[in-house]
Amino acid sequence: MTNNDPIIALATPSGVGAIAVIRISGNESIRLVSPFFKSKSGKILLDQKSHTLHLGHIYDGERILDEVLISVFKNPYSYTGEDVVEISCHGSVYIQQEIIQLFIKNGIRHASPGEFTLRAFLNGKMDLSQAEAVADLIASDSSTSHQIAIQQMRGGFSNEIEELRTQLLNFASLIELELDFSEEDVEFADRREFKALIQKINSVLKRLIDSFALGNVIKNGIPVAIVGEPNAGKSTLLNALLNEEKAIVSNIAGTTRDAIEDEIVIGGVTFRFIDTAGIRETKDEIETVGIQKTFQKIEQAQLVIYLIDGTTLKSESQLEKHLSEIKRIEERSTQKKILVLLNKTDQISEKKIKEILHFLNKNITEEVLSISAKDKTGLENLTAHLQNLLNKGALSNNQTIVSNARHFDALHNALKSTKDIVSGLDKGISSDLIAIDIRQALFHLGEITGQITTDDLLGNIFANFCIGK
Ligand code: GDP
Repeated sequence: MTNNDPIIALATPSGVGAIAVIRISGNESIRLVSPFFKSKSGKILLDQKSHTLHLGHIYDGERILDEVLISVFKNPYSYTGEDVVEISCHGSVYIQQEIIQLFIKNGIRHASPGEFTLRAFLNGKMDLSQAEAVADLIASDSSTSHQIAIQQMRGGFSNEIEELRTQLLNFASLIELELDFSEEDVEFADRREFKALIQKINSVLKRLIDSFALGNVIKNGIPVAIVGEPNAGKSTLLNALLNEEKAIVSNIAGTTRDAIEDEIVIGGVTFRFIDTAGIRETKDEIETVGIQKTFQKIEQAQLVIYLIDGTTLKSESQLEKHLSEIKRIEERSTQKKILVLLNKTDQISEKKIKEILHFLNKNITEEVLSISAKDKTGLENLTAHLQNLLNKGALSNNQTIVSNARHFDALHNALKSTKDIVSGLDKGISSDLIAIDIRQALFHLGEITGQITTDDLLGNIFANFCIGK
């Protein structure tokens, strides 16, 4: 894994652009590129200082491939910690490929996904959680996910873990020392101090574990199920929200016609809207399947928006039907927030709207808002409500937030071990048994920052990166 043979990859997206950047890293990379580059001022690339830029041409034999700008970074002062050359060339796919092929023919290997960042980790330029934050940063699509990734990349989270781990390690060595003197019944590690440390570690672990709920929704978006019959105005509502927020939408691949997913960024937070059909009581077999699907979708959501087409409410019995549907959703989703929206209010009289709202408010505890998706009225209220769902307090206080499922698992495992240590201490169990739990806790804390790694773990993490990063 500590191989630092020269590797090459395109660092910018594949396809045509104004310019493209090709990155080369590893032993001898400057020496390998140097013979193919003729600088305009006649300088030899190999003789140049670190962190310098050079204009010239790349030659394949007699043939000029492109006019390029080359940057040189010498180890250890580079992203990977190795010698790095970055070639900014013209952005034609042909030129990019010609240059990459030229160097592949001359002893440089094509990089695998994430290999540059893997090397940065292996060369001690960043710890594992910082390396993972690089991938999150590249994938961040909202201001909040960006904020969390930046924070993690700057090491906020790993510093905290690392400090705890060091303190724990100190105690571990004292306790291990006791094992060497087990005949003599000595105690080098003060049990009271030790317990205080473990309790401090526990509270930090708990805080980090709790922050995952927020971190996870910020990273992956808050799933919102919209329940509404055909023509209730679901698509119109989503489009209206989109225009309002000038947000990014994407149709998530693999969704079917009966459940369309859209991602919309509102106030810096990604919401994933899942469109579902209604859930009216029915004997029709096909519809029953549809209803089951709706409930499955509701299960995945954190918020359920129940959309009512106000123009169809001709009698109280129709409202009653909606009430019983809302109650059915309530019963099946005690942990979720439900928001009732009365739509198409542009087609109903003020008096009627008031009556309907009064009726709903009297019979259900959920919040009810009235909107016109078509005229875009009431949407500000709705978006404010959506944003309130997320307790962003932790974000504004700049607290550390865990957004990575692997860290979450490791924190959980570490907490389990530290809890075992506390109960062991309370029961007065022997040092050798306590030492086992301490080793476990150290192991799981080390897994986060990368002091403890396996090739499989690294393979899994870096395979999720793009090539060139
Ligand atoms: P979906 O089947 O739930 O996605 O419903 P659509 O969004 O396709 O809307 C069905 C019809 O209702 C369309 O003709 C919309 O223009 C109309 N519609 C949606 N929202 C409103 C609204 O607030 N007011 C009025 N007057 N019509 C609306």
